[in-house]
Amino acid sequence: MSAANTTATDEQTDTLIRPTLVLNCGSSSIKYALISEDASTRIEGLAENLGLDTARIKHTTLSGEKLEIAIAGGRHKLALQKILELLEQYQFIAVGHRVVHGGREYSEAVRVDDHVLAEVKRLKVLAPLHNPANALGIEAVQALYPDVPQVAVFDTAFHQTMPPVAYRYPIPKALYEDEKIRRYGFHGTSHAYVSNRASSITKASGSHGWLTAHLGNGCSAAAVYEGQSLDTSMGLTPLEGLMMGTRSGDIDPGLHIHLKRILGMSLEETDKMLNSESGLLGISGLSNDLRTIEQAASEGHSDAILAIEMFCYRAGKYLAALSCALPEFTGIVFTGGIGENSAVTRARILDVMRHFGIAVDTDKNKTLVGGAEGSFQSADSAVELWVIPTDEEYRIAQETRAALGLA
Ligand code: AMP
Repeated sequence: MSAANTTATDEQTDTLIRPTLVLNCGSSSIKYALISEDASTRIEGLAENLGLDTARIKHTTLSGEKLEIAIAGGRHKLALQKILELLEQYQFIAVGHRVVHGGREYSEAVRVDDHVLAEVKRLKVLAPLHNPANALGIEAVQALYPDVPQVAVFDTAFHQTMPPVAYRYPIPKALYEDEKIRRYGFHGTSHAYVSNRASSITKASGSHGWLTAHLGNGCSAAAVYEGQSLDTSMGLTPLEGLMMGTRSGDIDPGLHIHLKRILGMSLEETDKMLNSESGLLGISGLSNDLRTIEQAASEGHSDAILAIEMFCYRAGKYLAALSCALPEFTGIVFTGGIGENSAVTRARILDVMRHFGIAVDTDKNKTLVGGAEGSFQSADSAVELWVIPTDEEYRIAQETRAALGLA
């Protein structure tokens, strides 16, 4: 079966010209977007709860109709087949996959062949939850559409421009040389998209240095100068750095041995605790969702108040530290579910950075929610402040087309 050989109605092909399919295959969900060549039209959807009986696809058609399709048995492969069936009529010309780990090998998007697929699988050692699901997506498309070119767009690739001073850990050299233990960074497509967008809409002339804060359920920050990532908060794994929804972020590496000694906790138990039971959830004891915590804080819940204060303090402290990587500091860009929606959180983070001469236009800040894009510094601010909704799917489509020479 080839997408190029399927038929489509005139109306459909008119409105979605030469689209690229973007697939983000996770361990329990598959996010997808079909984006037209000029990026003006798209179809999006999400398969969630995969592996459970409640698995379903939430699909929005080109005309805006919302469909919900149950996936019998909740299986990954079946969900993917269903998604491809739903989209096949639009004759997609390429498929771009978000692949979480590209190791040291990949500093840009690459067309998938047998070698690349084998590398994605091999790099499972660095991303055990993600790379296998990404590889599964590539194989499913390969089986159904062998003639459609596929591209792997790595989450780590954007950060491959970091210098050794930023990417090496101060541990024995052999671990870096033999085992590739170093900082890689993640959320690369998001940091790339928002920093690029900031540079294209700012009125600041000359070179641009941005601190980008991707604050969602996962959180990371990056220092981007002239389009190149110079440092970022996530490291070997997406656990390092900022406090997140359920992840601790930075922690004393001595914690593992301490918990083993006092509680007999295994490395796996500590790892699970740091990844799934910490962060906003761990401190608030309520939820990993900032909306729930903000509501509880407004009712005086002391752990919710502390969770928000810690989240903002740690984010502000990290951004301040990352500013050291920038030769010039043009501004800060907020993105992700929290960065795009919580004006209070943005203001609190910036308050932590009060020694930088940052001045917030409070009214403007409040208006930048729900997908709005704009700046919110006041006239006397030392740096610009932006909210730029991230668009990782757009960036992946763009990189896919570029890797195939279609851009
Ligand atoms: P993401 O992972 O980028 O989809 O972001 C998800 C997170 O964004 C959620 O867990 C919420 O904590 C946060 N979020 C979304 N909308 C809001 C909002 N209106 N106010 C505060 N936080 C929000």
